[in-house]
Amino acid sequence: MKTKIDKLRELIRYHERKYYIDAQPEISDASFDAFMRELEELEKAHPEFMSPDSPTQRVGGGAALGSRMPHRNPMLSLDNSYDEAELREFAERVGRGLGGAPVEYVTELKIDGLGVSLLYENGILVRGTTRGDGEFGEDVTANLRTIHAIPLRLVGGAAAGEGQALALREPGKGGDINDIPPVLEVRGEVFIPKHRLDVVNAQREAAGELPFANPRNAAAGSVRMLDASITASRPLDIFVYTLNYAEGFEFAKQTEALETMKTLGFKCNPHTERHDSLEGVIAYYQRWLAKREEIPYDVDGIVVKVNSIAQQEQLGATSKQPRWATSYKFPAHQAITRIEKIGVQVGRTGVLTPVALLKPVKLAGATITNATLHNEQELSTKDVRIGDTVVLERAGDVIPKIAAVLKERRTGDEVVFNFPDQCPTCGTPVKRSETEVAVRCVNAACVAQLKRRIAHWASRDALAIEGLGPARITQLVDTQMVCDVADLYTLKEDEVCRLERMGQASAKSLIRQIERSKAAPPEKVLIGFGILHVGGHAAEQLISHFSSINALSRASLEELETLYKIGPRIAGTVVAFFAQNQPLLQKLKAIGFHCFEETAARRSDLLVATDSFFSGKTFVVTGSLQGITRADASAQIKARGGKVTSSVTGKTDYLIAGESPGSKYDKARELGTQILAADEFFEKLGVAAE
Ligand SMILES: [Zn+2]
Repeated sequence: MKTKIDKLRELIRYHERKYYIDAQPEISDASFDAFMRELEELEKAHPEFMSPDSPTQRVGGGAALGSRMPHRNPMLSLDNSYDEAELREFAERVGRGLGGAPVEYVTELKIDGLGVSLLYENGILVRGTTRGDGEFGEDVTANLRTIHAIPLRLVGGAAAGEGQALALREPGKGGDINDIPPVLEVRGEVFIPKHRLDVVNAQREAAGELPFANPRNAAAGSVRMLDASITASRPLDIFVYTLNYAEGFEFAKQTEALETMKTLGFKCNPHTERHDSLEGVIAYYQRWLAKREEIPYDVDGIVVKVNSIAQQEQLGATSKQPRWATSYKFPAHQAITRIEKIGVQVGRTGVLTPVALLKPVKLAGATITNATLHNEQELSTKDVRIGDTVVLERAGDVIPKIAAVLKERRTGDEVVFNFPDQCPTCGTPVKRSETEVAVRCVNAACVAQLKRRIAHWASRDALAIEGLGPARITQLVDTQMVCDVADLYTLKEDEVCRLERMGQASAKSLIRQIERSKAAPPEKVLIGFGILHVGGHAAEQLISHFSSINALSRASLEELETLYKIGPRIAGTVVAFFAQNQPLLQKLKAIGFHCFEETAARRSDLLVATDSFFSGKTFVVTGSLQGITRADASAQIKARGGKVTSSVTGKTDYLIAGESPGSKYDKARELGTQILAADEFFEKLGVAAE
């Protein structure tokens, strides 16, 4: 049995590598899931063979953020070169230091992420630390384990499934050594791909937190989470670039060390190059500077290293920086433009945010027309005026910011913006608080806030109503067809049809989407309420404790305050929300929101409905179901007493097949499993499909 488990782990590791490191998957996600499940079941049946390096153990227990750990040797920062002249000075210093010997350079892209160090003992990941201050880092092992591109166990001997011998070359020998260093430490950069930042930020905003300004902050914030399961949900990746220590092994060159790390199973950046002269380095820089926008992760320059380890040692380091490497930085993206107007936006919770409306300007490939001025205080501190010429900057940041006001260009015609004392939308006097910089419109009926609240209700993280974007919402609110979120559910197709730019088909689809959202689980509805400080994480905690919105709405301040992870801030806003919004809750109940019906069933797992179509049956969900994620569909089935598994077997009662169902569909056909189309499924759930 142990052999079988080991074989299966090896197979999974191999495919994990193919998928996350080489980006060349050889099997379908479904087959991969099936292997994982088989392993999980075997490990459950044989706990004596459990091992922390098993692929099933990426998210484990234990404190996610641990103590300060000293680094084996300091994680030094790099000397920076900001232009070609500075790079040439660096090369001259290197040349002098080596007495004029020929120098080979190696160039790498400088990834803008979070530096980490990974320690392996006998091939097993035992510790991961952040760079910290260079001397000490934070122990973030539990969080780093969740990153699939970080191997929990190194590839030793033959690479699993490939029969390839591991080639660890000793300098000058070139022979193969089928072994792994007993102690190995590598360093690398954890990052979030640029295009995934919005995913992370949507989660943040749903949690009532400020969005990360750039992928670097997102990566750092995600690695330093207290809860490893949150880290696991973030799209983190890594490139390893330094082999810091390998007991019993020596390398002649950085390029050799990079090759060895790849062989051991680490993910290294593919765009590394070796150059015989500085001219090659400069050409590499120019080439990547021109392409920087196309790189799928943030790169803020290149790193230039002397390739020979012997020469590196000869050059040594100052107390802060190695003398054999420099980072040659890309310039920040900047553009100069003029502030034509300053406007004020009213948010969902009534916060007034000043926004600079700019003369449109191209910056890092995008046309920028506005930039946030954050708040009243920032506006006055920076002394930003209407008509000012400003420097707009995007240095790795996704959201452009006003880096400087060019006061020397003022003509005297600039106008100081007076922050309004009234809400620009509803005219209610604003409220300034002593404890926060935010200025708020406190009118609960403010139309600007209402539009934002509806947009939040319809957003992906809440009720996920597709087709209800800002323009539609404005139409619905301005025509007074909708005065609160509950009104969405009384809209009729023929009314919606009469709106401008709204055809019969879109009206029908919008109504259907709205109708479907009634089946949303309670935590989504709770997120949708947009209660201050209650985002996805808090909503899940609250629902898992109280089981239903009904029960939560009856909770007292004292009861909420004592809950672990909730605390007085959230407790206060939750209690206030339910005290003020009883009419809305009654309306939603009357409309037939499922989450209000199931109080009894949700109070306890033992009390799940036994009379529903779903109870006691086993389901598999596949393909995309319009308007509902597979996870939500599964939650709905479970709430009705059904069981959901991920692969079709002889025990499966029904396969629920959405669009593009794939291999599970074929399997179900093969086994003669009953298949439910999406519409039939929605019908059984009790949600109108048409
Ligand atoms: Zn207002």
